[in-house]
Amino acid sequence: MNPLRSLVLSAVSLFGDAMSHEFVLPLFLGSCEPEDADIALFGVCWDGTSSFKAGSRFAGFAVREASFGMEEFSFYQQRSLLDVRFCDYGDLFLPPGQKERVMTDIGSAVKEIRAKKQFPIAFGGEHLVALPLILAAYEEHPNLALIHFDAHADLRPDMWGDTLSHATIIGRAADRIGYEHLYQFGIRSGSVEEWTLAQEHRTLHPFTVEALREVLEKLGDRPIYLTLDMDVLDPSLYPGTGTPEPGGISWDLLIAGLKLFRGRNLVGMDCLELAPHYDPSGVSAITMAKTLREMILLASQRKR
Ligand code: MN
Ligand code: MN
Repeated sequence: MNPLRSLVLSAVSLFGDAMSHEFVLPLFLGSCEPEDADIALFGVCWDGTSSFKAGSRFAGFAVREASFGMEEFSFYQQRSLLDVRFCDYGDLFLPPGQKERVMTDIGSAVKEIRAKKQFPIAFGGEHLVALPLILAAYEEHPNLALIHFDAHADLRPDMWGDTLSHATIIGRAADRIGYEHLYQFGIRSGSVEEWTLAQEHRTLHPFTVEALREVLEKLGDRPIYLTLDMDVLDPSLYPGTGTPEPGGISWDLLIAGLKLFRGRNLVGMDCLELAPHYDPSGVSAITMAKTLREMILLASQRKR
Protein backbone atom coordinates (compact mmCIF):
# COMPACT_ATOMS: atom_id res chain seq x y z
CA MET A 1 0.00 0.00 0.00
CA ASN A 2 1.25 3.42 -0.88
CA PRO A 3 -1.22 5.98 0.42
CA LEU A 4 -0.69 9.67 -0.11
CA ARG A 5 -0.34 11.16 3.29
CA SER A 6 -3.08 13.69 2.89
CA LEU A 7 -5.75 14.69 5.34
CA VAL A 8 -8.05 15.34 2.42
CA LEU A 9 -7.58 12.31 0.24
CA SER A 10 -6.39 9.41 2.32
CA ALA A 11 -9.29 7.32 3.44
CA VAL A 12 -7.07 4.33 4.04
CA SER A 13 -5.33 3.21 7.15
CA LEU A 14 -1.57 3.60 7.09
CA PHE A 15 -1.42 0.37 9.04
CA GLY A 16 -3.00 -1.77 6.36
CA ASP A 17 -6.12 -3.74 7.07
CA ALA A 18 -5.35 -4.11 10.75
CA MET A 19 -7.16 -0.90 11.63
CA SER A 20 -10.32 0.52 10.17
CA HIS A 21 -9.54 4.13 11.05
CA GLU A 22 -7.15 6.58 9.51
CA PHE A 23 -3.99 7.42 11.44
CA VAL A 24 -2.09 10.47 10.27
CA LEU A 25 1.68 10.27 10.53
CA PRO A 26 3.39 13.51 11.60
CA LEU A 27 4.94 14.03 8.17
CA PHE A 28 4.59 16.98 5.82
CA LEU A 29 1.18 17.23 4.18
CA GLY A 30 0.90 15.34 0.91
CA SER A 31 4.18 13.42 1.14
CA CYS A 32 4.48 9.94 -0.39
CA GLU A 33 6.65 6.92 0.38
CA PRO A 34 10.40 7.56 -0.04
CA GLU A 35 10.85 4.85 -2.69
CA ASP A 36 8.33 6.63 -4.94
CA ALA A 37 9.72 10.12 -4.46
CA ASP A 38 11.46 12.38 -6.96
CA ILE A 39 11.87 15.14 -4.35
CA ALA A 40 13.04 14.60 -0.75
CA LEU A 41 12.12 16.90 2.11
CA PHE A 42 14.02 16.49 5.37
CA GLY A 43 14.56 18.41 8.58
CA VAL A 44 18.02 19.60 9.63
CA CYS A 45 16.95 21.03 12.97
CA TRP A 46 20.08 21.95 14.88
CA ASP A 47 20.95 25.27 16.50
CA GLY A 48 24.41 24.81 17.97
CA THR A 49 25.92 28.12 16.81
CA SER A 50 22.87 30.39 17.09
CA SER A 51 24.43 33.67 18.16
CA PHE A 52 21.34 35.22 19.77
CA LYS A 53 18.14 33.31 20.48
CA ALA A 54 18.47 29.56 19.96
CA GLY A 55 15.49 27.29 19.33
CA SER A 56 15.51 26.34 15.64
CA ARG A 57 16.14 22.75 16.71
CA PHE A 58 12.36 22.68 17.26
CA ALA A 59 11.41 23.69 13.70
CA GLY A 60 10.67 20.19 12.39
CA PHE A 61 7.47 19.24 14.16
CA ALA A 62 6.18 22.82 14.18
CA VAL A 63 6.39 23.00 10.39
CA ARG A 64 4.81 19.60 9.85
CA GLU A 65 1.97 20.41 12.22
CA ALA A 66 1.48 23.77 10.46
CA SER A 67 1.38 21.95 7.10
CA PHE A 68 -1.78 20.13 8.18
CA GLY A 69 -3.59 23.46 8.23
CA MET A 70 -2.81 24.42 4.64
CA GLU A 71 -4.12 23.44 1.23
CA GLU A 72 -2.10 21.11 -0.97
CA PHE A 73 -3.02 23.40 -3.88
CA SER A 74 -1.09 26.61 -4.49
CA PHE A 75 -2.96 29.54 -5.97
CA TYR A 76 0.44 31.10 -6.70
CA GLN A 77 1.66 28.33 -9.00
CA GLN A 78 -1.68 26.68 -9.75
CA ARG A 79 -0.28 23.27 -8.88
CA SER A 80 -0.94 20.80 -6.10
CA LEU A 81 1.37 18.86 -3.85
CA LEU A 82 -0.77 15.84 -4.64
CA ASP A 83 0.50 15.90 -8.23
CA VAL A 84 4.12 15.85 -7.06
CA ARG A 85 6.04 12.80 -5.87
CA PHE A 86 7.82 14.09 -2.79
CA CYS A 87 8.61 12.35 0.47
CA ASP A 88 9.36 13.61 3.96
CA TYR A 89 12.20 11.65 5.53
CA GLY A 90 11.60 13.28 8.90
CA ASP A 91 14.30 15.08 10.87
CA LEU A 92 17.87 13.91 10.52
CA PHE A 93 19.14 12.96 13.98
CA LEU A 94 21.55 15.76 14.93
CA PRO A 95 22.73 15.71 18.55
CA PRO A 96 23.07 19.09 20.31
CA GLY A 97 26.69 20.25 20.27
CA GLN A 98 29.04 17.95 18.32
CA LYS A 99 29.36 20.39 15.42
CA GLU A 100 31.87 18.34 13.41
CA ARG A 101 29.74 15.23 13.61
CA VAL A 102 26.62 17.20 12.66
CA MET A 103 28.32 18.73 9.60
CA THR A 104 29.58 15.30 8.50
CA ASP A 105 26.22 13.61 9.02
CA ILE A 106 24.28 16.26 7.09
CA GLY A 107 26.79 15.98 4.24
CA SER A 108 26.59 12.21 4.03
CA ALA A 109 22.78 12.18 4.36
CA VAL A 110 22.28 14.67 1.53
CA LYS A 111 24.75 12.78 -0.66
CA GLU A 112 22.73 9.62 -0.06
CA ILE A 113 19.56 11.46 -1.13
CA ARG A 114 21.31 12.83 -4.21
CA ALA A 115 22.60 9.36 -5.09
CA LYS A 116 18.95 8.25 -5.21
CA LYS A 117 18.39 11.02 -7.78
CA GLN A 118 16.03 12.78 -5.39
CA PHE A 119 15.97 16.57 -5.32
CA PRO A 120 16.87 17.67 -1.76
CA ILE A 121 14.87 20.30 0.10
CA ALA A 122 16.13 20.75 3.66
CA PHE A 123 14.43 22.85 6.30
CA GLY A 124 14.66 23.75 9.91
CA GLY A 125 17.56 24.80 11.85
CA GLU A 126 20.16 27.54 11.94
CA HIS A 127 21.92 28.56 8.76
CA LEU A 128 25.21 26.70 9.33
CA VAL A 129 23.45 23.43 8.44
CA ALA A 130 23.31 24.69 4.84
CA LEU A 131 27.08 24.45 4.36
CA PRO A 132 27.26 20.68 3.79
CA LEU A 133 24.08 20.91 1.69
CA ILE A 134 25.57 23.56 -0.60
CA LEU A 135 28.93 21.78 -0.83
CA ALA A 136 27.25 18.50 -1.79
CA ALA A 137 25.52 20.33 -4.66
CA TYR A 138 28.82 21.96 -5.63
CA GLU A 139 30.57 18.58 -5.71
CA GLU A 140 28.09 17.45 -8.37
CA HIS A 141 27.93 20.82 -10.16
CA PRO A 142 31.28 22.65 -10.23
CA ASN A 143 29.69 25.62 -12.05
CA LEU A 144 27.14 26.11 -9.26
CA ALA A 145 25.65 29.54 -8.58
CA LEU A 146 24.49 30.26 -5.03
CA ILE A 147 21.45 32.47 -4.47
CA HIS A 148 21.07 33.61 -0.87
CA PHE A 149 17.96 35.26 0.63
CA ASP A 150 18.62 36.57 4.16
CA ALA A 151 18.50 39.61 6.43
CA HIS A 152 22.14 38.94 7.32
CA ALA A 153 25.17 38.71 5.06
CA ASP A 154 26.55 35.66 6.94
CA LEU A 155 29.99 36.57 5.55
CA ARG A 156 31.91 37.04 8.80
CA PRO A 157 35.45 35.65 8.76
CA ASP A 158 34.67 34.30 12.22
CA MET A 159 32.14 34.68 15.03
CA TRP A 160 33.89 34.98 18.41
CA GLY A 161 36.85 33.11 16.96
CA ASP A 162 34.79 30.37 15.34
CA THR A 163 35.03 30.23 11.55
CA LEU A 164 32.08 27.82 11.28
CA SER A 165 28.89 29.50 12.50
CA HIS A 166 25.52 30.64 11.22
CA ALA A 167 27.11 34.08 10.85
CA THR A 168 29.95 32.76 8.63
CA ILE A 169 28.19 30.08 6.54
CA ILE A 170 27.86 32.02 3.30
CA GLY A 171 31.49 33.13 3.49
CA ARG A 172 32.61 29.52 3.95
CA ALA A 173 30.45 28.43 0.99
CA ALA A 174 31.80 31.30 -1.15
CA ASP A 175 35.39 30.37 -0.21
CA ARG A 176 34.73 27.12 -2.07
CA ILE A 177 32.41 28.06 -4.93
CA GLY A 178 33.84 31.56 -5.50
CA TYR A 179 32.43 34.92 -4.43
CA GLU A 180 31.75 35.73 -8.08
CA HIS A 181 29.12 32.97 -8.06
CA LEU A 182 27.29 34.31 -5.00
CA TYR A 183 24.13 36.46 -5.31
CA GLN A 184 22.66 37.87 -2.09
CA PHE A 185 19.17 39.39 -1.75
CA GLY A 186 17.44 41.10 1.16
CA ILE A 187 20.60 41.64 3.22
CA ARG A 188 20.26 44.51 5.69
CA SER A 189 22.61 43.63 8.52
CA GLY A 190 26.24 42.72 9.03
CA SER A 191 29.62 43.83 10.32
CA VAL A 192 31.93 46.32 8.62
CA GLU A 193 34.07 43.40 7.42
CA GLU A 194 31.03 41.82 5.80
CA TRP A 195 30.03 45.09 4.17
CA THR A 196 33.53 45.54 2.74
CA LEU A 197 33.70 41.96 1.47
CA ALA A 198 30.26 42.24 -0.13
CA GLN A 199 31.19 45.53 -1.83
CA GLU A 200 34.49 44.13 -3.06
CA HIS A 201 32.79 41.13 -4.69
CA ARG A 202 29.51 42.91 -5.59
CA THR A 203 27.42 40.17 -4.01
CA LEU A 204 24.56 42.37 -2.75
CA HIS A 205 21.43 42.89 -4.84
CA PRO A 206 18.22 44.71 -3.91
CA PHE A 207 15.34 42.31 -3.27
CA THR A 208 13.18 43.29 -6.21
CA VAL A 209 11.56 41.15 -8.90
CA GLU A 210 13.55 43.07 -11.52
CA ALA A 211 16.95 42.51 -9.88
CA LEU A 212 16.26 38.84 -9.29
CA ARG A 213 15.01 38.32 -12.82
CA GLU A 214 18.15 39.97 -14.18
CA VAL A 215 20.42 37.65 -12.18
CA LEU A 216 18.43 34.54 -13.18
CA GLU A 217 18.54 35.54 -16.83
CA LYS A 218 22.27 36.06 -16.61
CA LEU A 219 22.69 32.62 -15.03
CA GLY A 220 20.67 30.99 -17.81
CA ASP A 221 20.93 27.19 -17.56
CA ARG A 222 23.60 27.16 -14.88
CA PRO A 223 22.88 24.99 -11.84
CA ILE A 224 21.44 27.03 -8.97
CA TYR A 225 21.28 26.33 -5.26
CA LEU A 226 18.82 28.51 -3.34
CA THR A 227 19.45 28.99 0.39
CA LEU A 228 16.60 30.81 2.12
CA ASP A 229 17.04 32.22 5.61
CA MET A 230 13.47 33.06 6.54
CA ASP A 231 14.56 36.10 8.55
CA VAL A 232 14.72 37.85 5.17
CA LEU A 233 10.99 38.41 5.83
CA ASP A 234 9.76 41.33 7.90
CA PRO A 235 9.79 40.09 11.51
CA SER A 236 6.33 41.55 12.09
CA LEU A 237 5.22 38.81 9.69
CA TYR A 238 7.77 36.23 10.78
CA PRO A 239 8.77 36.73 14.43
CA GLY A 240 9.67 33.08 15.05
CA THR A 241 13.35 33.38 14.38
CA GLY A 242 16.55 33.70 16.40
CA THR A 243 17.90 37.02 15.07
CA PRO A 244 14.90 39.08 13.94
CA GLU A 245 15.88 42.11 11.89
CA PRO A 246 13.46 45.02 11.44
CA GLY A 247 12.63 45.84 7.85
CA GLY A 248 12.62 43.02 5.37
CA ILE A 249 10.48 41.81 2.56
CA SER A 250 6.80 40.98 2.44
CA TRP A 251 5.29 37.56 1.85
CA ASP A 252 4.02 38.74 -1.55
CA LEU A 253 7.52 39.74 -2.63
CA LEU A 254 8.98 36.43 -1.46
CA ILE A 255 6.39 34.55 -3.52
CA ALA A 256 6.96 36.79 -6.55
CA GLY A 257 10.69 36.10 -6.22
CA LEU A 258 10.28 32.36 -5.82
CA LYS A 259 8.00 32.15 -8.87
CA LEU A 260 10.89 33.41 -11.02
CA PHE A 261 12.71 30.13 -10.32
CA ARG A 262 10.14 28.12 -12.28
CA GLY A 263 11.82 26.13 -15.06
CA ARG A 264 15.30 27.05 -13.84
CA ASN A 265 18.09 24.55 -13.34
CA LEU A 266 17.63 24.25 -9.57
CA VAL A 267 19.80 21.55 -7.97
CA GLY A 268 18.97 22.04 -4.29
CA MET A 269 17.12 24.30 -1.87
CA ASP A 270 16.85 24.93 1.82
CA CYS A 271 14.52 26.96 4.04
CA LEU A 272 15.99 27.72 7.45
CA GLU A 273 15.94 29.65 10.74
CA LEU A 274 12.56 28.92 12.26
CA ALA A 275 12.59 29.04 16.06
CA PRO A 276 8.88 28.37 16.59
CA HIS A 277 8.67 29.07 20.32
CA TYR A 278 9.22 32.81 19.81
CA ASP A 279 5.95 33.01 17.91
CA PRO A 280 3.03 31.82 20.02
CA SER A 281 0.65 32.71 17.17
CA GLY A 282 2.25 29.98 15.04
CA VAL A 283 2.14 32.13 11.91
CA SER A 284 5.91 31.80 11.39
CA ALA A 285 5.65 28.01 11.21
CA ILE A 286 2.72 28.34 8.82
CA THR A 287 4.78 30.74 6.71
CA MET A 288 7.64 28.24 6.50
CA ALA A 289 5.25 25.37 5.69
CA LYS A 290 3.75 27.40 2.85
CA THR A 291 7.19 28.41 1.60
CA LEU A 292 8.14 24.73 1.53
CA ARG A 293 4.99 23.93 -0.44
CA GLU A 294 6.07 26.52 -3.02
CA MET A 295 9.63 25.12 -3.05
CA ILE A 296 8.38 21.57 -3.62
CA LEU A 297 6.24 22.80 -6.50
CA LEU A 298 9.23 24.71 -7.93
CA ALA A 299 11.40 21.60 -7.68
CA SER A 300 8.79 19.67 -9.64
CA GLN A 301 9.12 22.22 -12.49
CA ARG A 302 12.91 22.36 -12.52
CA LYS A 303 14.78 22.14 -15.80
CA ARG A 304 15.91 18.55 -16.50
MN1 MN B 1 21.48 33.34 7.61
MN1 MN C 1 19.59 35.71 8.92
